[in-house]
Amino acid sequence: MQQSFTIFPFDLPGDVTTLRADIRAFLGAHAVKLGVPNCWLICDPDFSKALGAAGFLGMTLPKDVGGHDRHPLERYVVIEELLAAGAPVGAHWIADRQTAPLILRYGSDEAKARYLPGMCAGELYACIGLSEPGAGSDLASVRSTARLTSDGWRISGQKIWTSSAHLSHVMLALLRSEEGSERNAGLSQFLIPMDAPGVTIRPIIDMSGEHHFNEVFFDDVLLPEWALIGTRGQGWTQATAELALERSGPERYLSSHVLMTALIDAAGTDPDPELRTLIGELTAELWTLRQMSMSTAAKLAAGEDPMVEASMVKDLGNSFEQALPQRVQALVDCPSTRQDDLAKLMRSLLISAPSFSLRGGTREIIRGIIARGLGLR
Ligand SMILES: Cc1cc2nc3c(=O)[nH]c(=O)nc-3n(C[C@H](O)[C@H](O)[C@H](O)COP(=O)(O)OP(=O)(O)OC[C@H]3O[C@@H](n4cnc5c(N)ncnc54)[C@H](O)[C@@H]3O)c2cc1C
Repeated sequence: MQQSFTIFPFDLPGDVTTLRADIRAFLGAHAVKLGVPNCWLICDPDFSKALGAAGFLGMTLPKDVGGHDRHPLERYVVIEELLAAGAPVGAHWIADRQTAPLILRYGSDEAKARYLPGMCAGELYACIGLSEPGAGSDLASVRSTARLTSDGWRISGQKIWTSSAHLSHVMLALLRSEEGSERNAGLSQFLIPMDAPGVTIRPIIDMSGEHHFNEVFFDDVLLPEWALIGTRGQGWTQATAELALERSGPERYLSSHVLMTALIDAAGTDPDPELRTLIGELTAELWTLRQMSMSTAAKLAAGEDPMVEASMVKDLGNSFEQALPQRVQALVDCPSTRQDDLAKLMRSLLISAPSFSLRGGTREIIRGIIARGLGLR
């Protein structure tokens, strides 16, 4: 007897089948650029521009700012296809995922006009200015300041670990705007153009030898009043709401997906039993994570604030994708002389995977949020 299953407690909106076919056709036309591990950190401006021109960026934004008025779950379908294919989406990633929606919600008319059309076109990139020396996990220790003067806002201080600051046009920064304030009170969010006088960007080279991170210094940077995003003093609430967008998406379990695809390809049609079991286990785990992530995305789309759910997706997703290269390494012999896709991807991901449970909030902090959300005091 055939059984029918309700996969999600909601229907996917729009014509998702056509949309999935469209994005796959786009990817097919750019096949030469695909297969990149840890792909949402890898920047390819031409790819981002082409994606924007094809209507796959700013999907949930209104048409009058260059967007496409699509449902958040339609955007989800597009980004899971991009990530699963290992597309180099790093240039526009932050702007499309969180900065543009935040500007739409809280930004002034000037900010919307200046930034949103370029973000929707895949030509204007943003970076995240949260972490500082001494304010990583303990984000409420932010010390960089914004002071309102008769000329506008004056910004001083330093950010660190800023992904792609050297390629970005603008930073959305969390700064202490109220003199004498402490912890999570008195913080505000600001848009800082990366070419503003007084902004200095210094590279930090990571352990794989790549320049991805940066330190960013602000030396009395002058900003117009409209650079304040949202309500003065409410930066903490805004920034933590932004984190729910950042933590539950498919990028929390698909960073290593190209390795899984390469493993399946290399296994061929008659894999040995151990390999068959591994692929089966990985597929089952991946499917569960996808269900959890999509359900959280549906809650976000419905206007809820699923901080605990988003944190669970991040923690379980990071654990899955972090373990993947090690699980492959345990079964597949990949000496350093081996140069096929599987071996190269595995070696690359063994180096980058430790960062998966740090970025966007460390494992320990995320588990603390889950414990408190579940009622532990
Ligand atoms: C790939 C990558 C990209 C990043 N991109 C950005 C970016 O674009 N913008 C940005 O602002 N930041 C970025 N970060 C920084 C990231 O958010 C921080 O590294 C992270 O929040 C941890 O802060 P920290 O490095 O200061 O470590 P710390 O806060 O010093 O933590 C060190 C260790 O102590 C543990 N720890 C700390 N406090 C507690 C506690 N209360 N209970 C239990 N354990 C605790 C942590 O879990 C961690 O294991 C990025 C990081 C990575 C790895």
